[in-house]
Amino acid sequence: MTPEEQITSLRNKLHHYNYLYYNKDESLISDLEFDMLLKKLEKLEKKYPQFYDENSPTVRVGGEITKKFKSFSHRYPMYSLANTYSKNEIIEWIKRIEKKYGNKVNDFNCELKFDGASINLYYERGKLKRALTRGDGIKGDDVTLNIKTIKNIPLILNGIYPEKFEIRGEVILPIDSFINLNNERKAKGLPLFSNPRNTASGSLKLQDSKEVASRKLKCFFYSVVGENSSIYHSELLEKSRQWGFFIPESMKRANSINEIFDFIDFWEKKKSELPYEIDGIVIKVNSIKIQNELDFTSKVPRWAISYKFKAERQSTKLLSVTYQVGRTGAITPVANFEPINLSGTIVKRASLHNSDQIEKLGLRIGDYVYVEKGGEIIPKIVGFDKLRRPSLVNDIKFIENCPDCGSKLEKIQGEAQHYCKAENNCKTQIIGKIQHFVSRKGMNIEGFGSERVSLLFNEGIINNIADIYEVEIEKLINLEGMAEKSALNLIESIKQSKKQPFQKVLFSIGIRHVGETVASKLANHFESIDNLINSSYDDLVSVEEIGEKIVNSVKNYFENPENLLIIERLSDADINFKIDKTKNKSNILNGDIIVISGTFENLTREKIKQLVLENGGKLSSAVNSKTKIIIGGESIGPTKKQKAKLLNIPIISENDFLKMLNT
Ligand code: AMP
Repeated sequence: MTPEEQITSLRNKLHHYNYLYYNKDESLISDLEFDMLLKKLEKLEKKYPQFYDENSPTVRVGGEITKKFKSFSHRYPMYSLANTYSKNEIIEWIKRIEKKYGNKVNDFNCELKFDGASINLYYERGKLKRALTRGDGIKGDDVTLNIKTIKNIPLILNGIYPEKFEIRGEVILPIDSFINLNNERKAKGLPLFSNPRNTASGSLKLQDSKEVASRKLKCFFYSVVGENSSIYHSELLEKSRQWGFFIPESMKRANSINEIFDFIDFWEKKKSELPYEIDGIVIKVNSIKIQNELDFTSKVPRWAISYKFKAERQSTKLLSVTYQVGRTGAITPVANFEPINLSGTIVKRASLHNSDQIEKLGLRIGDYVYVEKGGEIIPKIVGFDKLRRPSLVNDIKFIENCPDCGSKLEKIQGEAQHYCKAENNCKTQIIGKIQHFVSRKGMNIEGFGSERVSLLFNEGIINNIADIYEVEIEKLINLEGMAEKSALNLIESIKQSKKQPFQKVLFSIGIRHVGETVASKLANHFESIDNLINSSYDDLVSVEEIGEKIVNSVKNYFENPENLLIIERLSDADINFKIDKTKNKSNILNGDIIVISGTFENLTREKIKQLVLENGGKLSSAVNSKTKIIIGGESIGPTKKQKAKLLNIPIISENDFLKMLNT
């Protein structure tokens, strides 16, 4: 055998043994023999570096260091799941989807909801090419090197698989591995991890892949995207099992609501026997055609729902209530209680949300309160033990003044929250606002982490968001932890942030109740900050999905002269306060209403949407007489097809659409 043949044969053998061991629980050779083969391969690879393969079994050992995790856009966004704790809501969900689909839906796939960190893997010609974390759903971090060390993830696939596809799964840390890891850490005097879930997600972002390799993580897969030949989701999962992915045997098809409930009841009882943690059940419409028809809301697929198990509950003594000031001035009361262990995490604080909530619960300091937490859910107080109320309890008197700046708190009519209105004088709010402004979702100023914001504020270098664009390099150098290079980098990222589009800017300036979606809606509707400032109450309410609460908040914001001054200064610094129409590549679509349906091969849905808007089109999800064109991909919904035929609306492919834009 030539060295190349030897290397190939060893690699094939090791991939195969690895697959059998980690996915099928079969070992054809002993651990020692396996290690010896691996060592032999390592030696040969060192000697003949010309036969390097990025997916060789030797990469599983780790050793590569990732200094910085690059982020990439997901080809298909990673949505979260609608969730419920009630069986009745599952019945409601089925009614809803049947109404939308226009027919009975009675084929579901029931799966466990694994509690770990989700991951998206991209395979090309049977080889793992890239692994991205979920991130914010739109963009994730490239953790490929770390993912390759997880032994039950195939680096090379078996059988007949699609040329290119993506598969999603949950990286989990089995409970016994978690316990062993903590025992080792205890012995080394290192801080302990709080639960398997956080440890799994933290492990993916470790810089040293060798350390990741030692953590005994696993990956359970639950969905495939970009494969177009299957009829059922369950069929697709079965196929991926053949390709080498670990699909837990627990998944089960259900043909009626009772079968779904049986699955839930079975696992609710059995979950404590599983060697890993789950926090519920996921129910998915099994037909891919119906899934495509039902599509997604802006946040979640309509064709799936998760049923979460009721959280673990414990009682503990309420010691005090303290108050936090948020970046928008909202005051949040926080309950501090004697520490308890809930679902494997030590908990000693929980938000009480607002004064109404405290009143509703009827709590007094000294009460034994019930605290609940399940999976990733934030702990919350759900009541107190009436029989155990001590004779000496103190009323909780909601504060009247801001714990930070001392100004009088106000309660806005129709809102539960108390607010500190000194938005430009209250330190916590100012720092919070600046942190929000520079954050990744905001102006995305790299190298401007929360601590650095606090530092610059405390040093008197920035007092508000407009000051950021006037920061002088001389003031940065000499600051603690700031070398010349990082100061230069920061100045450069500040400059770069001026390119952010208007909708991002509008989100970043931090108007209460104006999140990303609302900012985008307002920006697209009013097109400039001047139009928005000068808009009337009626103008504002007429914008789709903008209600009274948002309108009042927007109006309040622009009525404050200090805010107007900040906007003026930002505008002088060349921040975008207008929709950039030059960004509109053309007006070829001339206000035409376009519907996008189905799945696409070359472009993501988001990209198509962006192209429609950039070329002067408007988007709608419903086909009706106003629809001009439907851009249809694979498995376009039958109802949409029917309506298009009836109304004589052309359905064009993504390629036709691109051609149309090019003309
Ligand atoms: P949530 O984070 O509660 O919105 O739930 C969505 C997350 O559940 C996904 O991003 C996955 O990480 C996770 N998940 C775990 N098991 C499954 C499953 N069987 N199907 C879909 N998602 C799952």
